[in-house]
Amino acid sequence: MKDCIFCKIVNKEIPAKVIAENERAIAFLDAFPISDGHVLVIPKKHYGDLGLCDEASLVDVIKLVKQVSNDIEATKKLDPWGFNYLSNQGKIAGQEVMHFHMHIIPKYEKDKGFMFRNEKGALNYATDEVYEFLTKAKYKSKTAKILQKATTKADKQTKK
Ligand SMILES: [Zn+2]
Repeated sequence: MKDCIFCKIVNKEIPAKVIAENERAIAFLDAFPISDGHVLVIPKKHYGDLGLCDEASLVDVIKLVKQVSNDIEATKKLDPWGFNYLSNQGKIAGQEVMHFHMHIIPKYEKDKGFMFRNEKGALNYATDEVYEFLTKAKYKSKTAKILQKATTKADKQTKK
């Protein structure tokens, strides 16, 4: 959609710290993180909100949410205690970009509970550092490893 900042990220018209993608979804670092490793996952097609999304896109979005969360945990550098997964729908709820997106908000001890801090000094890492943690090959997601193991196992069984 014209004038949609997230569509422009999908079309690479404006830069973003993209950390992962699949067929119908893409994940990038939030430009205004409220915690270290704050990531947005969006469908590549423009949908204003969750209710308007086609199911295939939703499946790809949630798959990517899972993969990226595992990647964040696997960095060890970030080492979150948990996550809040959320989406704001409508201006009243705080939706700022009218293109459906899920927030992955890693939680640390200081951010306990369903509340979010947005003060300077709440972050331990610069966006560039987080990007590096999440794009380094050695931090492969647990999901990817498990899938790889399962595939190898299946391969062996078929060969028998
Ligand atoms: Zn859009």
